[in-house]
This record gives sequence, structure tokens and C-alpha cells, in this order.
Amino acid sequence: VEATFDYIEQTDEKINAFITLNKTDALEKADALDAAGIDPDELLAGIPLGIKDNIVTKGLKTTAASHILDNFEPVYNATVMDKLDGQKTITVGKTNLDEFAMGSSTETSYFGETHNPWNLTKVPGGSSGGSAAAVAAGEVIAALGTDTGGSIRQPAAFNGIFGIKPTYGRVSRWGLMAFGSSLDQIGVLSRSIKDSAIILNAISGHDDHDGTSATEAVPDFTKALGQDIKGLKIAVPKEYMDKGIDADVVKAIQAAIKTFESLGATVEEVSLPYTKYAVPAYYIIASSEASSNLQRYDGIRYGFRAKDVKTLEDVYVRSRSEGFGDEVKRRIMLGSFSLSAGYYDAYFKKAAQVRTLIKNDFDQLFEKYDLILGPTTPTPAFGLGEKVTDPVTMYLNDILTIPANLAGIPAASIPAGFSETGLPIGVQLMAKKMDEMTIFKAADAFE
Ligand code: GLN
Repeated sequence: VEATFDYIEQTDEKINAFITLNKTDALEKADALDAAGIDPDELLAGIPLGIKDNIVTKGLKTTAASHILDNFEPVYNATVMDKLDGQKTITVGKTNLDEFAMGSSTETSYFGETHNPWNLTKVPGGSSGGSAAAVAAGEVIAALGTDTGGSIRQPAAFNGIFGIKPTYGRVSRWGLMAFGSSLDQIGVLSRSIKDSAIILNAISGHDDHDGTSATEAVPDFTKALGQDIKGLKIAVPKEYMDKGIDADVVKAIQAAIKTFESLGATVEEVSLPYTKYAVPAYYIIASSEASSNLQRYDGIRYGFRAKDVKTLEDVYVRSRSEGFGDEVKRRIMLGSFSLSAGYYDAYFKKAAQVRTLIKNDFDQLFEKYDLILGPTTPTPAFGLGEKVTDPVTMYLNDILTIPANLAGIPAASIPAGFSETGLPIGVQLMAKKMDEMTIFKAADAFE
């Protein structure tokens, strides 16, 4: 733990992966563990982890990278934190993200942007960019992230690491600051696939505090490792290898397909015709849910309150106007509009119907195939400042990750080589609901 902090002190000035470090508490906990001794079966005891700063940690500042919560100290732990505490992990600190996890580049953080360790002029992706950069830079071996539309997988791809978004409901969302509640999932980013399997074992399972938490039994994900994948049926949607995808990315994915075939899997081209509607449907649904979820930040119950306010209305309007950044306000406006009486049928309801069509497409494919494979992102990491002023271009970047959230299925990004410019590329694997085992099995065989 000491070495971890020493290393973070040397590296994080350049990368800015962490918003808050938890040094005093972490060292105390490590000392206590040293004194008590660690049983070799306690795989996670004493392991330093990064935690995305939209997951609440008791007594440790949790900001969602927003000015509105920049001094917020939670009075309780997220369920995942209680579970990790039970396994004696050590929280090194809270990692940077786009404000309230809204973004794909970690540039909308109130605490400044995170830099991609492979090339400091590039974004680390987002919104779990701090978690991914911390892992890729070797600051921690693994970190928790959250994924509403790709926020674990896209930064994993941009940083050349493994990242898994489990099935919606697999991991409790209690204590995750809500963005799009029907889409949000907590998951893991790590360099080694085995580390993710071990950590996902620790955080999964039913929780009475989360009404959408699944009751299905949790398998031991490490049992999927080291297996043969002969006969595995993999589908590659042609829409995922289209004109819009960067040539280096297509090349890397074609090479990945060859590797899977050489391991005995069969790979066939299929079609997911509704793919092009996923981005618009997602941005309506996620923004609508966000506009409702973010009502709670009113300047009274939590966080920042504007100074010199005269009326109650002033408290709300000024605290929110000054507390939220531009991207969050854009989502609140878009969402409130889509849900409003005059526009609900044309926007929110239509988006919900499109979501069902996308989900049905996946269900049909999974009757015949074990996995769906494609790129995680259309391009490798883009430049800092390149897209942040153009929200629509930024949103389109999520086209390949959003469908899995709309369908509620598990999906992971696995390192699949580099572009000619030396930037990492990720291959994405998606499986049917509750079938993370097949993803781990194939990812491990591929690695
Ligand atoms: N980039 C997407 C968005 O901005 C997804 C973010 C996420 O998964 N949290 O909404």
C-alpha cells in the first residue's frame, strides 16, 4: 500500500486519475492487516483498489466529479463497498470521471481532465477514465467503474486493459449515484482478466436495497478461466464493421476473429439492423432518467448551495445553475423535454419502443450464438479537446457500447493490439443475460 501511494505521487501529477486519495485510512488498514495476518485464501485482503467517484464511500469524499458535490462526505457505504470491505480490500482513492458519469472522455470533470497514460495528449475515454488510466498506468491493479452506455468498456479499450460491464442486476446499484437507473451497472477494470473475475465474484449478488438486483445465483467466475473454447459460436454483426469504423480497428478485430477461429470457435457474420437507432434512443432514455434522478440536487439536501440567496426559488435555481456543468445541464434539459406532456409520446415512448426492438434482436441472436463480437469503439483514443465542444460527435462515439446497456446484457472489452500510432484497441464480447462466464472463458482463451 505504501508503494502504491509512492508510485501515485510520482505519476498522478501527469495523469490526474484520482480526485481524492485515502492515504491515512488506507495505511492504517494495511497496518492492521499486517498485524492480524492474512490467510492465503483471502485473495483480496490488502489489495489496493481505485473506486470511481460516483460510488459512495462512507466518510470518504464522493463528488461525482461535480462542483455540486465537491465537499460531499457520504454517511453510508455503497453495497459494493461493504462487500469489498468484507474481503479486506484497501481503497486507495476515488477516481476521476465525467461529471455524473455523463461523457466519453473524462473531460467534463470539475476536477480537470484525466490523461491517457499511453499518450498524454489523448483522452482516457469515459466516463470511467480515471479508473482506466489508474490501472493502465500501474497505479492500482484494478478499479471499479460504472457503465451506463459504455463507460467501463470504452475507457478499457482506450487504455489497453480489460473491463467488464456485468448483466444489469448482477451487481447492486445501492450507493451508486444514479444517472440512467435502467442502464447503470457497476463493473471492474483491470490488467489481468483473472483479477476482474475475482473482484466480480466479490461484488456480485442479490441486494434487498436495490429493487432491480437479480436473484440468480452467482457462479465462480474464475472457474471460466483456462478452458477450451472449441465449438463456441460467435456472431459478428456487419453493422459493427461498417464504413464508420477506423481501418486500424477493423484490422485488429479481423485479427481477433482469426485468433478465435484458430482456438476452435466458429465465427459468422450476422446483422443487427437497429444498431443505428441505438444512440438516439439511448440519449433520450438516459437523459430522461438523469433529469429525474438529478432533481435531488436542490441546494438543500446535499452539497453545494449558492451564496446570498433570497428566495426558495433562488436556492434551487442558483445552486443548480452554479453547481452543475454544461454537459449535465444539457442532459437535464434534453431529458425534461423528452418527458414533458407534449413530447413524451414522440420522444421517450418512441425511444422505449426502439429499445425493445434492439433487445429482441439480441435475444434472437443468442438463440443461435454464444457470443457477439465486434470492436469496442469506432476509433482508438481521440485527442483531448477534439470532441468536447461537439456533443453529437461525442455521443456517436458510443454506438458500439450502448446496445448492450439497452438490452441489459453483459459485455466486456479485451485488449486486441494497437493502432499504427501506438494506441490500444479493444475487442468487445457480449453474451446473453447472466452469462458472464462465457465472456470470461472466451476472453481468457483469447488473451
Ligand atoms: N458516454 C455515454 C454518456 O455520455 C455513457 C456514459 C456512461 O456509460 N456512464 O452517456
